[in-house]
Amino acid sequence: MNNNRQLDTYFGRELASLRERGLFRELRVLPATGGKLSIEGRKVLNFSSNDYLNLANHHQVKVAAIEATERLGCGATASRLMSGHLELHDALEIDLARMVAAEAALVFGSGFLVNIGVLTAIAGREDEIFADRLNHASLIDGMLLSGAQWHRYRHKDIDHLERLLKKSKTGGRRIIVTDSIFSMDGDIAPLKCLAELAESYKAIMVVDEAHAIGVMGARGGGVCRIKGQEIKPEIVIGTMSKALGGYGGFVACSDTMRSFLINRARSFIYSTGLPPACLGGSHMAVSLVESTPQMGQELLARVQRFREFLVEEGFSLPEIESQILPIHIGDNQQAMNLAGSLWEKGIMVSAIRPPTVPAGTARLRVSVTLAHSIDDLQFAAKELAQSARQWGVL
Ligand SMILES: *Cc1c(COP(=O)(O)O)cnc(C)c1O
Repeated sequence: MNNNRQLDTYFGRELASLRERGLFRELRVLPATGGKLSIEGRKVLNFSSNDYLNLANHHQVKVAAIEATERLGCGATASRLMSGHLELHDALEIDLARMVAAEAALVFGSGFLVNIGVLTAIAGREDEIFADRLNHASLIDGMLLSGAQWHRYRHKDIDHLERLLKKSKTGGRRIIVTDSIFSMDGDIAPLKCLAELAESYKAIMVVDEAHAIGVMGARGGGVCRIKGQEIKPEIVIGTMSKALGGYGGFVACSDTMRSFLINRARSFIYSTGLPPACLGGSHMAVSLVESTPQMGQELLARVQRFREFLVEEGFSLPEIESQILPIHIGDNQQAMNLAGSLWEKGIMVSAIRPPTVPAGTARLRVSVTLAHSIDDLQFAAKELAQSARQWGVL
């Protein structure tokens, strides 16, 4: 008891310090999911959901998840290597491999678990990892946990990466790791140049397509599959938790790499298989993405309109590269204030603060989804501008 109180004093002090710096985070309960919600009879536009294609509440996806549950139960009941490997795992992996144009795919519990598992499996003390400085947290954690020597190159800076590769003296493997669409800025990595460097320096290339799967490229297979700029990295990572509207992660790679990961990726081996509902739902979501490839294009067209509305209101914004639009604010508290007044008006946007983004670059991260109509976007742009003026940041 006494000891607990001491601990609470310690952790409480740390929390107080977070509050002072505008960095305190807390959970908010929502009664629904997706880009457009109804909360106590009030319409709320949710711009912080990753349900880009509005599939989380798609009728056929829900029915497929329910059917899988009725047929196979709620849980996989064991890790895949024990007795938790179902036919639906195989079926979904075949879908995902086809989508990404890879030989094979392997499904994990989540995208985070994929990144931890893959990087620790393919890299060790003898190897060197070269990572974009703005890579997703799960790639950073996987890199650190692997025990490999690591270098973080400046964001999308090919010259910096090449200098680091030139200096590298490892007798082991070199591995270049990058997001394709960066989560917080929505910009896209120079994959073609990275692939050329990987080739010249005999490096393995790992591309995390979490935000691009379902949205970009042929068959929704990601930025690596955009026509005219296709590349074939050794390892592509994706998630079913974003545009596919469900939950779970996957890696797409060669058959040999898949077998290797089944034997070496600890977050695959020692974690329970994905449940039937997730497998059935994602199987349907992939089939919808493949049969209606215009969904991704329509999404990007809407983001473009939204950007135009915001620019008309006086915001200065980067060119659109993806469905994620950053509105830079700078100060943590101002970003929070702005998000707070927007919430009052029925608009949910996340204020993204350090350590998720570098200090002094707090921002609103707006992600547009197919649940948002052009009218919704016009309304949101007006409200955003009004609140921004009210807080003196426009
Ligand atoms: C969201 C995300 C992940 C994690 O995927 P989950 O399935 O949500 O665990 C990994 N990498 C990137 C780049 C992401 O944006």
